[in-house]
Amino acid sequence: MTPLLSIPLLSVRGLTKSYASATGAPVQALAGVDFDLAPGEALGVVGESGCGKSTLGRALLRLVEPTSGSVTFQGQDILSLSRRQLAQRRRDMQIVFQDPFGALNPRHKVGTIIGEPLAVHDIPNRARRIAELLEMVGLPADAAQRFPHEFSGGQRQRVAIARALALNPKLLIADEPVSALDVSIQSQIINLIADLRGSLGLSMIFISHDLSVVRHVSDRIAVMYFGRIVEIAPAQALFDDPAHPYSQALVSAVPLPDPSRRKARVILEGELADPANPPPGCAFQSRCPFVTPRCRTERPALVERRIEVGLRSVACHLAQTA
Ligand code: ADP
Repeated sequence: MTPLLSIPLLSVRGLTKSYASATGAPVQALAGVDFDLAPGEALGVVGESGCGKSTLGRALLRLVEPTSGSVTFQGQDILSLSRRQLAQRRRDMQIVFQDPFGALNPRHKVGTIIGEPLAVHDIPNRARRIAELLEMVGLPADAAQRFPHEFSGGQRQRVAIARALALNPKLLIADEPVSALDVSIQSQIINLIADLRGSLGLSMIFISHDLSVVRHVSDRIAVMYFGRIVEIAPAQALFDDPAHPYSQALVSAVPLPDPSRRKARVILEGELADPANPPPGCAFQSRCPFVTPRCRTERPALVERRIEVGLRSVACHLAQTA
C-alpha cells in the first residue's frame, strides 16, 4: 500500500487544543498535529496516558472543539461547518469509545440503540439493516430485543461497533476500544474490527496506549508525546527500526514471540514534563537517554524522509542527523 500517493480522505494540519488546567493555566492537549489518512488506510495512534490521543480522536469529529488548525475530510473543511452541516458529515465519520457500557443507553433495547442513527437520518427498512448489522458484528438476531446489561463487555462493544457502522461511514475512529475488556476478549474485538475494516473498505484511526494492540490493525503508526506526533511510519518499519528514542522505548516494551528479534528493554527514567509549563526545546528531553544541549533549546520539527517501505517522519535532532 502506498497511502500518501493517493488523495487523502482526511488531512490534519497544525491541530491544537488547549484546556484550562485546575490551576487555570492552559494545558496544550494537542500542540500542533499534522497527518494525512488515505482512503482505506488504518492509522494506529499510540502514546502513554495524557499525551493527547483521546483529544485528537474527539477533535477530528469536533466532539471537542479544536483551538486552531485544520481538519479536511474529503476536501471539506470540517472546522468551518455549521452544527447542522456537521451532523450530516458525521454520517461518514464515526467513533467507538473505550467504555461500551457508558456509551449505550441502559434503558434502550439493543435494536433501538443500533437503529438510532438510522432513525435520526430517516433511513427506511431499519429492521432489516439492524439485523444485518447484528450479523456483521457476530451477535445473534434476538440481541435486538435485549438490553445492554444482558451482554458481556465484549458483546456490548460489538453493539457499539454495530451502531457506529449503521450509516456506512467512511472513517471509523476507535478510541481505546479494547482497554476496558478482559485480555481474553480483546483479540476477538481487534480481529472483528480488522475484518470489518477489510470487508467494508473503512479508513480507520485506532487509538491505544498499548502498541501491541494497534500493531496488527495498522498500516501506519503515529507515536504521540506531549500533544504532538513524534514519529509516524509504516507499522513494520516502526516495529523493526523505530527512529525516535520514545518510539524505541515503546517498541522495546512489547513482548515479541521470536526471542531472536527481542531487543533490550529501554526503561525511561526522569520526570514527565509539566503539561501546564512545557520546557523549551524537545518535550522528551527530561527522559531521553540521548539528550544533547540542542534538545533543551530547540524543538525538533517533524521531518519526513523516504525509507524503503514508504515515508517516515520523525521529530528528533539526533534521528535527523543519523
Ligand atoms: P490520552 O487520551 O492520551 O490519555 P487526553 O487527550 O485524554 O490524553 O489528555 C491530554 C491532556 O489534556 C492531559 O494533560 C489531560 O489532563 C488534558 N485534558 C484532557 N481533557 C481535559 C479536559 N476536559 N479538561 C482539562 N484538561 C483535559
